[in-house]
Amino acid sequence: MHSRHLSRDSLLDFALTLSNTRAVLITAGALIDGSGAGLLRPGAVLVEGDRIRAAGTRIEAPADSERIDLPNATITPGLIDCHVHLSDAGLADASVQDQDPPALRVLRMAEHARRTLTAGFTTVRDAGGRDHLEFALRRAAHEGLIRTPRLVLAGKIVSMTTAGASSWPGMYRQADGVSDVVKAVREQVAAGADVIKIMATGAVLSPGHERPTSAQFTREELRAAVDTAHAMGLRVAAHAHGVEGIARAVVAGVDTIEHGTHLHEDPGVAKEMAARRVFLVPTLKALERIAEGTGVPEDMRSKAQDRRSDRDRTFRVALEFGVPIAMGTDAATPFNRHGENAEELALMVALGMTPIAAITAASGVAARALGREDIGVLAPGRLADIVVWDGDPSHDIQILLRAPRAVFLGGDRVM
Ligand SMILES: [Zn+2]
Repeated sequence: MHSRHLSRDSLLDFALTLSNTRAVLITAGALIDGSGAGLLRPGAVLVEGDRIRAAGTRIEAPADSERIDLPNATITPGLIDCHVHLSDAGLADASVQDQDPPALRVLRMAEHARRTLTAGFTTVRDAGGRDHLEFALRRAAHEGLIRTPRLVLAGKIVSMTTAGASSWPGMYRQADGVSDVVKAVREQVAAGADVIKIMATGAVLSPGHERPTSAQFTREELRAAVDTAHAMGLRVAAHAHGVEGIARAVVAGVDTIEHGTHLHEDPGVAKEMAARRVFLVPTLKALERIAEGTGVPEDMRSKAQDRRSDRDRTFRVALEFGVPIAMGTDAATPFNRHGENAEELALMVALGMTPIAAITAASGVAARALGREDIGVLAPGRLADIVVWDGDPSHDIQILLRAPRAVFLGGDRVM
C-alpha cells in the first residue's frame, strides 16, 4: 500500500538496492590479497553491495548468493596507479594538442579513464591535470555519465616560476614566496583536490636549460605547502629528481616522492625516507619511453637518456634500504599510454622486485601512499574493487599486461 506514494524512480532505486544486496561469490584458481602475503590456492571473495564481506581460499556463502566461477584465473585487488595525467595522451610532443577546445580535451580524458579502468586499474592518482577539467570528469562519473577508476586528484601542480611550468598550459599554478605558495595550495583544495602536487626539482619534460637535478622552492616554501595541505587533511606528492630537492622535500614532510631519480647518490636520504615512511613512486616507464621515443624533443630526450642508469640504481637502493615503493607510471608522458599501466610492474620485476611485491606496490602499498585504507587489499569491509586475470601473475607478471577476465569497481562488474 506504500507503493502508490512512491514515484517510478524511487521504486526503481528500491529494486536496484535489493538486487545489490544479494551477495556475489567469486571463485578462482588462486588469490593475491594485496597485503604482501603470498598466493592462496584456490581463491574466493564474497561481495555484498559495494564491500568485500570475506576473502580467502574457501568461503561459506549465503545459499542465495550469485556465483561467478573462474577456474585457472587469479583474483587480485583492483590495481592502483599513483601517478597519471589523464589530461594528456602520451604523444611524442604533447604541445600539439595545447590549443584544442576544452570539450574535446574532456572527451579524451574520459577515454583515457575508460582504458585505464578496463586494464584493471580501479584507482588512479592524477598528479596534475589541465585547467581543472579533471574535476568535471569526476562529476560526470559521479552522475553516471561515464565510468572511470576512482579518481584521486591533485588539480594544478604548484611550482615556482619556471620555463618548464610555463610550457604546459593549464597544468601548473606558479607561485613564489610563502604566502603565494599557501594561496596556490588553498586554491587547489577549494577546487576539489584530494592531494597536493608540488615541484621540488626541475623536470625532464621542460626546456633544455632547466636541469632535473636543481632544487626548486626554498625550504620555507616547501614547508608552507606541506603545512597548508596537511592542516586540511591532504597529502603532498613532491616531484623530485635531484637528491638535494628530494632531501629538502622529505625534511619538509612530504608524503610521496615522485620519480626520485638521483636518490642513490645519498643513501642517507633513502634511509630517512624509510624511517619516515615516505613513499617512492619510481615511474620507471616514463624515463624509459622518453629516452627511446622518436619525435620527442631532443633536449628532453637527452635528459632522459642521461639518467636511465640513475633510475635503475635508485630503485635497487630503495629496495635495499626498505623505502616503501608505490607503483606509478606517469602515464601521459611520451609513449606512456593510458591502459598500458601494467608495463610498470614488469619493469619493477625486471629490476629485482618479486611479482607479488610489485602487485603489492600497486595495491596495498599504493593505497597506504594515498591514505586510502578502504581500498587496495582484499579484506572484509574494504571496497569491492577486484580484478580477475587469466593465469597466475605471481609466476608471470606479463599476464597483467593482457586484458583482465573481469573487473569489479565497488562491487559493480564493469567488464
Ligand atoms: Zn607526472
